Amino acid sequence: MDDKKLLIVEDEVSIAELEKDYLELSGFTVDIENDGTEGLNRALSEDYDLIILDIMLPGTDGFEICRRVREVKNTPILMVTAKKEDIDKIRGLGLGADDYITKPFSPSELVARVKAHLSRYERLTGAEKNANDIIEIRGIKIDKTARRVWVNGVEKAFTTKEFDLLTFLAEHPNRVFTKEELFREIWDMDSIGDIATVTVHIKKIREKIEYNTAKPQYIETIWGVGYRFKI
Ligand code: CA
Repeated sequence: MDDKKLLIVEDEVSIAELEKDYLELSGFTVDIENDGTEGLNRALSEDYDLIILDIMLPGTDGFEICRRVREVKNTPILMVTAKKEDIDKIRGLGLGADDYITKPFSPSELVARVKAHLSRYERLTGAEKNANDIIEIRGIKIDKTARRVWVNGVEKAFTTKEFDLLTFLAEHPNRVFTKEELFREIWDMDSIGDIATVTVHIKKIREKIEYNTAKPQYIETIWGVGYRFKI
């Protein structure tokens, strides 16, 4: 496995160093964070191929880190726990952790698990690249080639302009667009209409994708400016 970069978030320095040594012997590049909050920031700001995450941590705990990373990234997460009750929690909370390993574990077991998850993830993402052009953000899946949309696994029907508008916003997450910009982007410059059309379409899209249209989780209104797709 070449050029794979891993993050270990572990407050027990000796354990973190031991894990790092073994993983580096297997050819991985490894960063360590000993504080939960620092670990979370690093996991969010850098691109790792896999994260090894302790649960009991100063700052932010492993459960919260896992949840926050999963909101924006599909990076495989291997949780490390010393407590049996944590295992039920990992399973029960639906945090999106890919696996867990209980302390004490042998370094070779850790290396084997890491390799297994990296290969699995590579297979999955490789398959996705060869398939259609898919955008997945939290519960929303957009198949650009087939022009189909699923919300939490349920397919929803969109008109051409609704689809174009949703896809455009989802492809530029966290960027605020004015209604004018969206109108110019989705509708022809010469087309008859005005920016109120954008408002109407956003409303219709929200009715299909939002759980509560009064409190949108995906397309946010930035008052006095426009809209953005939040990730
Ligand atoms: Ca710990």
